[in-house]
Amino acid sequence: MFNVAIDGPGGAGKSSVAKAAASLMGLSYVDSGALYRSIGYVLSKTGVDLNAPSAIEEKLQDMELELFYQDHAQHVLVNGEDVTAYIRTQEAGNGASKIAVLESVRNKVNEVIRKTASSLDVIMDGRDIGTVVLPDASLKLFITASSEVRALRRLTELEAAGKPHGDLETIKREIEERDYRDSHREIAPLKMAEDGVLLDTTDMKLYEVVYQVCRLIDEAREKRT
Ligand code: C5P
Repeated sequence: MFNVAIDGPGGAGKSSVAKAAASLMGLSYVDSGALYRSIGYVLSKTGVDLNAPSAIEEKLQDMELELFYQDHAQHVLVNGEDVTAYIRTQEAGNGASKIAVLESVRNKVNEVIRKTASSLDVIMDGRDIGTVVLPDASLKLFITASSEVRALRRLTELEAAGKPHGDLETIKREIEERDYRDSHREIAPLKMAEDGVLLDTTDMKLYEVVYQVCRLIDEAREKRT
């Protein structure tokens, strides 16, 4: 398959870029963070402490995780329930980052997303896609931006979606805490793949990033033929 991996810290705009590039370049967008968010959301809804590995692992054993597409949008099912509408909150993101340190959680997510990438040409975003999940991807991108700009983008996204959110300073602090946890964990820490392409989007508009990414995808496709 032709697969594109996008990694980078939260709020860098990876999912907006990947969604736009997917529709322009005929790829399926896989949001791997949505699976971590979904697991965290369902666990905390059922009263599990997200800082308690043994309780999480027990629940995980009989948890069914699935991914499907409806009108080109990814949906996540946990034990048959579509939780997609509930996971794009700051709280779900922080919860996801807590449980993402566990190997059992990562294995569960990786099984689902690798299966998808083996049957579809995907553009997949996350933290370890180019380094761990799809090390043979045809193109590996690392999209980042300053934490100030990322906090502002996250606030704008939450406001536009009518989701609850704290003030800019609180969002920035949470983003930095999440960056630290994601980059310093033992398993699959956030880092750029050795053969990755770095895109610092701090001073770029979304359409400029999408344009660059589509150009890089074209080049990677040409190289394959
Ligand atoms: O990308 P998103 O903000 O939805 O990811 C939520 C959290 O899930 C991240 O902060 C990270 O801890 C975790 N994650 C991960 N590996 C991925 C995708 C997400 O550890 N491939």
